[in-house]
Amino acid sequence: MYRTYRNPYERPCDCRCPIHQGSRRTAYDEPDCHCLITCASQPATLVVPEVGGILFLDYGLTLWFVPGLEPGHWDWQCAVPVGSTHPLGKAADYLSDLLFEAHEALLPLIHRM
Ligand SMILES: [Zn+2]
Ligand SMILES: [Zn+2]
Repeated sequence: MYRTYRNPYERPCDCRCPIHQGSRRTAYDEPDCHCLITCASQPATLVVPEVGGILFLDYGLTLWFVPGLEPGHWDWQCAVPVGSTHPLGKAADYLSDLLFEAHEALLPLIHRM
């Protein structure tokens, strides 16, 4: 992946999460995490009301699913990688490709924003 100052994998949390504020996130399933999906450290995220949660790729291109808790908040301790046995497993390759292609398409353009 490219390295830019807008790369969420390189950026520290800025959403006042009690455990991440000011530091980078290396895991997405920490029980005390209260990160918002607008956090600087949050990768491009698909909000999917149909399944009550969010989907995104980590730095290693693993697809993660995080269920919603209440509007705008996410149950990070229940975050799971979407493997073949996950209920969304059949769509995992498609969703991963979609997120990766969006990421790749946007990277050359972000310096213009
Ligand atoms: Zn956090
Ligand atoms: Zn955060």
